[in-house]
Amino acid sequence: MGSQKAGEIRFLMQAIESFVTAAGGVKPLVGGAVFALLFIGERLAAAAPRPKTKHRMIHNLGLWGIVLVLSPLIIAPLTAFGANHLLWERPETLRFGALILIADIILLDLWTYWMHRAWHRVPLMWRFHQIHHFDEFLDTTSAFRFHIGEVMISALLRLIPIALLAIPFTHVIAFETVFICTVMFHHSNLRLPAGFERTLSRIMVTPSIHWVHHHAVMKDTHSNYASILSLWDPLFASRSSASRTPEMKIGLESIEDKPLLRLILTPFMRRG
Ligand SMILES: [Zn+2]
Repeated sequence: MGSQKAGEIRFLMQAIESFVTAAGGVKPLVGGAVFALLFIGERLAAAAPRPKTKHRMIHNLGLWGIVLVLSPLIIAPLTAFGANHLLWERPETLRFGALILIADIILLDLWTYWMHRAWHRVPLMWRFHQIHHFDEFLDTTSAFRFHIGEVMISALLRLIPIALLAIPFTHVIAFETVFICTVMFHHSNLRLPAGFERTLSRIMVTPSIHWVHHHAVMKDTHSNYASILSLWDPLFASRSSASRTPEMKIGLESIEDKPLLRLILTPFMRRG
């Protein structure tokens, strides 16, 4: 009787695991659908007036193109390698189940918060991350404006919590799916009802929080680092007191955006 019960529990856990695996498999589909919805939404209901220039769109999509090409070749195998070289093996009770999955997503989100702080505060890392902040306006495409070096180093460093906490590969993929959808959302120029956004921002990072991170005032640039959950900034004293306004200047204080090739070379140039 006892072994039958154990068999049922294992079957249930495997069903949950397969569901998460399937969710991981459809990551590009989920991400693509959210991208399309936000891209259309921010054109129908814009929070801030869109600039007429098209160059930033070329820069964002150009940098994204490099990541898209190199991701299946480098980043995905790197994550899979990490997931197959964990420092210990979790007991079954810590491997399956919705609560474990949610806990792993929260832990990876906390890691990402501190990594984002490091990308701002470590001069060598800022050389790469500033390219994301050169964008002089924000919309859904800004979520993909990252230097390939930053994307690769982030994926490499993320192997540390994955290996230490023995996070299952499927949980990492589930985190990535939630992460990319949230990052597209908080960069978007989508106008939301003020009351709704205020309530939502108590739980997750909304455009009202993240746009302040892109405000062309250095003390705001070095604030509001959270990605998914909004609690990390108040908890670690990095929340800016500034509020987003439709006309606030986006970008970096007294630095202009650069052509695509210059953006790629910026981290390696004498003067970033
Ligand atoms: Zn940043």
